[in-house]
Amino acid sequence: MLGWLRLLFAVLVIRLIWKFVSNVVSAARQPRPGGAKPRVALVRDPVCGTYVEPSRALSTRAGGATHYFCSKECQRSFAKSA
Ligand SMILES: [Zn+2]
Repeated sequence: MLGWLRLLFAVLVIRLIWKFVSNVVSAARQPRPGGAKPRVALVRDPVCGTYVEPSRALSTRAGGATHYFCSKECQRSFAKSA
């Protein structure tokens, strides 16, 4: 009775393994850019003018825009001047 279910399960497992293998193969085939980091859009610290990565920078929302800062000092002096 459960024979077809086991067959179905086996087919699913095989497909999953096949998908995994083909993913690994295609990933291995893809040329790697010589260790270069993907380019990130940088934003300018409005206080000192340093360019910072938004994901790593400190941010403050002001006037509907988000401002990014390289350090707490810049963030603080921006808050004071705003
Ligand atoms: Zn700064």
